[in-house]
Amino acid sequence: MTVELSAATALIDLQALQHNALQIRQLAPHSQIIAMVKADGYGHGLLQTAQALSSVDSFGVARLEEALQLRDAGIMKPIVVFNSVPSMKAITLSCQYQLALVLHSLEQLEALEQATITAPIPIWLKIDTGLHRLGLTKQQAATVYQRLSQCRSVQQPVGLLSHFSRSDEPTVETTLRQMAQFDDFARGKPGLQSLANSCAILHWPQSHRDSVRPGLLLYGISPLPGVSASALGLQPVMTLQSQLLAVREHPAGAPVGYGADWHSQQATRLGVVALGYGDGYPRDAPSGTPLLVNGRRVPLVGRVSMDLLTVDLGPDATERSGAEVTAWGAALPVETVAQHLGISPYELVTRLTGRVVKSVVLGPTD
Ligand SMILES: *Cc1c(COP(=O)(O)O)cnc(C)c1O
Repeated sequence: MTVELSAATALIDLQALQHNALQIRQLAPHSQIIAMVKADGYGHGLLQTAQALSSVDSFGVARLEEALQLRDAGIMKPIVVFNSVPSMKAITLSCQYQLALVLHSLEQLEALEQATITAPIPIWLKIDTGLHRLGLTKQQAATVYQRLSQCRSVQQPVGLLSHFSRSDEPTVETTLRQMAQFDDFARGKPGLQSLANSCAILHWPQSHRDSVRPGLLLYGISPLPGVSASALGLQPVMTLQSQLLAVREHPAGAPVGYGADWHSQQATRLGVVALGYGDGYPRDAPSGTPLLVNGRRVPLVGRVSMDLLTVDLGPDATERSGAEVTAWGAALPVETVAQHLGISPYELVTRLTGRVVKSVVLGPTD
């Protein structure tokens, strides 16, 4: 018999993840998929996520360490490191571990030119078309491309990519302008092209090109305000669960929690949940943020503390300690919770702490 001692658990539905990957295939049928598994697979667990994504073509990570973890776990698919530090060490390791690097700075180019590595590495040249974060400007790109073409450490042809700043806004012309800038540069060049994140996959089919780079969609979360994941044919991968530690009679007009932020209007029953900001549930969550207790929607009340939060079960509540609490999942989309908080669902799933146990499931749990 296994005894479940840990309270907060993130159930990770790998069947849903696989379903979402196939759904993305349908949305971008002519493109390869670079599955973005950075930031611990958007909080879903790097290795289990990557191991389950057998249908995708390659993986995208932000840090070199994330790529090394994938390789050390025996993952053989191509891996693209998007935000590598510009160092010789990064180039040596990329060669050794057969990683593709995104070239976003002149320092990386200089290191590549000085490198003496045993085999050329695949390079994606990142063009800054308007996000103005990383990437080569239009002015730099032509000479950098020229130098890359002649560099012995670089596998030819070089891939070309860019990243959008406003692809979530279908009526804003920024994305079209970014694509035009990219096409100006890419015209006539033989390398693979990649532009589209999740929003662009949905809104901008002309951006799909050779490889799409979905993150959020893979995890069954809608990036579009007002459009649910299920309307997009996606299934949520993560369910964040915990349980009621106690149910307490609470008199009318009494406060609960630090700072006495909330007072009950009427006599009620409060549920004390084993979940707090020490698990990654936001301390800023306002009273009224929904949770499910045995599937019933109830409001958070009072301030979230490190290990606990409280919900108003109502005066007629019949739930008892041990009842299942869901912070988000299929029956309460993480997008809805994020909306109550005024933050993005990206942040909610990636901020879970190491205390939360990740438990793999296959198929829906509620
Ligand atoms: C994270 C990331 C993506 C994926 O973004 P989503 O909005 O989650 O689909 C794509 N491209 C790059 C360069 C990224 O850093």
